[in-house]
Amino acid sequence: MENYDVAVIGSGPGGYVAAIRSAQLGYKTAIIEKYDTLGGTCTNVGCIPTKALLDSTHHYADAQHKFATHGIGLGEIDLDFSQMYKRKSEVVAKNTSGLEFLMSKNKITHIKGVAQFINNSTIQVTGKEGNQTIVAKNYIIATGSKPSAIPGIEIDKQRIITSTEALSLQEKPKTMVIIGGGVIGVEMASIFSRIGTKVTVVEYADHLISTMDHELGKSLQKILKKEGIDILLNQSVYKTENLGSSAKVFFRDQSGKESELEADYVLVAVGRKPFTEGLGLERTEVQVDSRGFIKVDGTCKTSVSNIYAIGDVIGGAMLAHKAEEEGVLVVETINGQNRPIHYNSIPSVVYTWPEVASVGYTEEYLKNNQIEYKFGKFPFSASARARASMDTEGFAKVLIDPKYGEVLGVHIIGARAADLIAQAVIAQEFEVTAEDMFRISYAHPTYSETLKEAYLIASGQGAVNI
Ligand code: FAD
Ligand code: NAD
Repeated sequence: MENYDVAVIGSGPGGYVAAIRSAQLGYKTAIIEKYDTLGGTCTNVGCIPTKALLDSTHHYADAQHKFATHGIGLGEIDLDFSQMYKRKSEVVAKNTSGLEFLMSKNKITHIKGVAQFINNSTIQVTGKEGNQTIVAKNYIIATGSKPSAIPGIEIDKQRIITSTEALSLQEKPKTMVIIGGGVIGVEMASIFSRIGTKVTVVEYADHLISTMDHELGKSLQKILKKEGIDILLNQSVYKTENLGSSAKVFFRDQSGKESELEADYVLVAVGRKPFTEGLGLERTEVQVDSRGFIKVDGTCKTSVSNIYAIGDVIGGAMLAHKAEEEGVLVVETINGQNRPIHYNSIPSVVYTWPEVASVGYTEEYLKNNQIEYKFGKFPFSASARARASMDTEGFAKVLIDPKYGEVLGVHIIGARAADLIAQAVIAQEFEVTAEDMFRISYAHPTYSETLKEAYLIASGQGAVNI
């Protein structure tokens, strides 16, 4: 039997960050992971491989559609699908081996196997080399999430697949139907459409990426349509069928009108559910809610005082950086520190091109809750930097409090929005005003100037730059 101060179950961004912070604070720490590689969904089949493929396909699309305007001729442009996927796997491998290094550097014991609770204070790990009993003063459950399905859809992983299988395809699909126009749906649609797959997105809501400010989804829809992606909104998928070498999707609109589509692959991206299978929670007093998410308090403590839970398994935004923040919060709470997470200051990013990024309240939230606001919106087409780079799609929109000018929300669709949002997070987190934000200097020409202009407009001043 091994004893630890902190045992972390699951090695995704929640788990590995928690383990590292725990070791930094001097705790004897173990991390238990059932898969052979560390890094969880994010590193193995989520954030990292999708961004690698989004990057490759972005280069390919630019080479096809933009290089000639820049005066660069390449002759016939070729796509080596297996090389593109090989590079993606190499990027993943570099990250997972980097995590192995970080674990050993921080003297964290990496235990390979499936962890299950025996009771509130003991776990058993079943690995290739047999069983091991572990007793820790504190446990952190960071077991993440798995793709959800909907009634009538059987994900057979052959023709009816999830993002995970899409990341290990052997050849470029000719056609693909994606169920769900959320974050995974639009990122996957971009990857495949850019390499010539005919992609159709079938979405239940009346716009894409529906949890974000609605203007972003509407703008993204126009951009993706221009790229050749078919987008069917207000459609509810109720059945899929594997036909052997293709698959069929059946859906109906709000009036009940039925339609069907056939494609090489049907990719199901209708959300993700908490993963606690095999964890033995039933042998503890840890409680879960009606959807299976582990219930926690403001410090991520479960109903058992020495068991914490973080990341996708507790719900909220399913984002790697949200899981990371919770990992740090838990360990620092164990350490007697007190630093709450401001969930409203956690940014969301969609890595299409242009990128989409948000922090704070959406306009819909402010309207629905009768919160007064002023807004400023500045188009990328009016940015000198955007014009120089041929990236003129999109806008930056800031929502501010009309009395004090406090930043309430920032929503960007445009080139490098993923990085631009960082300054808005600072404004949001530290209650900086719009005036503060426009009185600081922005390098010219940069995409960041679109934000300066939006703050100026929201504050009642005209734009000053082009
Ligand atoms: P996970 O990363 O899911 O890790 C959980 C780990 O626990 C897994 O490795 C699992 O094997 C292990 N485990 C489970 N049960 C046990 C057990 N009993 N014993 C031992 N080990 C166990 N988020 C972003 O912020 N940015 C992105 O760009 C982004 N892109 C994404 C793209 C895709 C296609 C997907 C699917 C997700 C993406 N996400 C992204 C979401 C992000 O991956 C998750 O929010 C994040 O991984 C959650 O981290 P976690 O630590 O809670 O769990
Ligand atoms: P999602 O919740 O973002 O989108 C699911 C979509 O499916 C919704 O728009 C919903 O209306 C639609 N849908 C549900 N049932 C349907 C039906 N029967 N017919 C048609 N449409 C239907 O979920 P996701 O895209 O699967 O992503 C899962 C999680 O992974 C998200 O919470 C996201 O935060 C995370 N993720 C993040 C990133 C990122 O940060 N860039 C990337 C990928 C995934």
